[in-house]
Amino acid sequence: MLTRPGGGGPARLTDADGAADATVVTSLAVREDALAEGEVPVPEAVGALLADLDELETLSRFAAGSATGRAEAAAETARQLGRPDLEQRARLVRADLQRRRGAVAEAGRTASEVHRWATEARDRYLMARSSFVLTAVLQEVGDLAGALEHAVSSIDLLDETALPALRIDHLVRLADVLGLARDPAAPERYTAVLRLAEELGDVDRQLRILNNRAYTDTLAGRFDDALAHSDRLQELARAHGRPLAVGDLDTVARALMGADRLTEAEAALRLGLAPEVLEASSDGDAGADFLLTLAEVQRRRGEVDLAQDTLSECVRRCDLHGLTAIRVRARAEQAELHAAVGDHRAAYEEHKRYVAELVELQSAQREARARALQAVYETTEARRQSRRWRELSLRDPLTGLYNRRHVDEELPRLLAGGTDRLWVALLDLDHFKRVNDTCSHAVGDEVLRAVATLLQEIPAPGGGSFAARMGGEEFLLVLPGIDDEDAATHLERVRSAVAAHPWAGLTGGLPVTVSAGAASAAEVPDPTPAQLLGLADARLYRAKRAGRDRVVATG
Ligand code: GH3
Ligand code: MG
Ligand code: MG
Repeated sequence: MLTRPGGGGPARLTDADGAADATVVTSLAVREDALAEGEVPVPEAVGALLADLDELETLSRFAAGSATGRAEAAAETARQLGRPDLEQRARLVRADLQRRRGAVAEAGRTASEVHRWATEARDRYLMARSSFVLTAVLQEVGDLAGALEHAVSSIDLLDETALPALRIDHLVRLADVLGLARDPAAPERYTAVLRLAEELGDVDRQLRILNNRAYTDTLAGRFDDALAHSDRLQELARAHGRPLAVGDLDTVARALMGADRLTEAEAALRLGLAPEVLEASSDGDAGADFLLTLAEVQRRRGEVDLAQDTLSECVRRCDLHGLTAIRVRARAEQAELHAAVGDHRAAYEEHKRYVAELVELQSAQREARARALQAVYETTEARRQSRRWRELSLRDPLTGLYNRRHVDEELPRLLAGGTDRLWVALLDLDHFKRVNDTCSHAVGDEVLRAVATLLQEIPAPGGGSFAARMGGEEFLLVLPGIDDEDAATHLERVRSAVAAHPWAGLTGGLPVTVSAGAASAAEVPDPTPAQLLGLADARLYRAKRAGRDRVVATG
């Protein structure tokens, strides 16, 4: 069950949740034994884990308690199997369960961490799943714009291989966000996803969709539509012999109350008083919420004694389970009841208590909401910051080219890739000291910047080439996937472009030229970056000695 954003109203959107289902197969314990004996080869264990995760992600009815245990066990198994992606999937299942139990900030933090992991690993499925959980988190804390963004990407990122039930869950969540935002697109979304659930023959999901649609209809004041969908909800449940959950009954009653059909509303709610229905609600919250609605209907029908009994039971449950928000709303109902029997003094006192507690509650809720939002966005912000810092740390501030650190990271990677068609060239400005001395250090800086621009502008054959500033007036060109002839041609083009550049405006009459020493990975068996750069440096030295403004690539 989702708590309506704002927390002041009853929860009527049903989540993938419901009665405990003892028939759920817990295959994990079996597998752990097998693993301990070393009998199951790893691929089979991975297959079993995948099946387990598929099931955990799509169970429409399970006991939150046992599912949490299963998700934790699955995360542990994934860790042992060295599958961080599957560990993240299990973490998300657990986060979604945490959220339902009210630990919204914690769920938000975990989901954002997984989202970051997935984005960096380009794991689309995990990105979709973490957006799915983030949708619910943001929806609960009232950030419907953020929720909508995640809801849309949680669907965009799913590919055809996603399980149909899972796709339906993602589509329902989008419809819910639109519904809560009173967006006119919500009804057609519900229609489309209901059709999918019908095609799949998934009655649980059809019930959930009809409930959520009817509930959002009541929110939008579309009571005729709400009644039509709540009728379908009841018919479907009857046809399949499913008792409606208290949340569903509550929606049915709300729709009827909207049409002033109080007798029928009470009759519908009475079904929920059956112990097997009332106690089956997975959290005490739903039961207390439902009783509050029933008390209101009974009072409005003039059955004040019954209403008082119902309300007292509601309050008892609130106190037992610490349901503060419902307890506060129960005070407002109590004040109405006192007034209904003519005890205006008691009504006044109760109303005063209601107002005082409401103010307190709202400030606590604002705080909780702020904490949850912070949990979601601080990791997003931290990621943005750390990416920015990382990117900056790999750049040379003067020219914007990559720096030596980037080279230190990239060259080993390129060499490890086993490419022999990799050229590197060290380029050093000739007599650069003279530019500084004759003109100024500032002009020297301009020259360095202009050379950097030239290095980037002259296209190199083969993809993935880059230029870096190694320090001072020394640059490096890294040219992967290029053959010897193209490398020589390219370097000669760079050299002549520097020499031919119209420097006069900047340096007065002083020419600017470069010398270059180039080396290829094919020249050295199993070359290390240091060997390759050392060879290029030796050739640069020869280029200088031979008179500068030239490229040496052999010898
Ligand atoms: P060669 O042809 O032998 O390379 O002669 P050179 O003058 O270029 O070589 P040298 O190593 O003697 O001098 C390099 C100069 O580059 C000295 C230093 O002041 C200047 N330099 C190093 N970094 C910068 C910088 O960031 N900005 C400016 N303007 N000058 C720099
Ligand atoms: Mg120099
Ligand atoms: Mg130098």
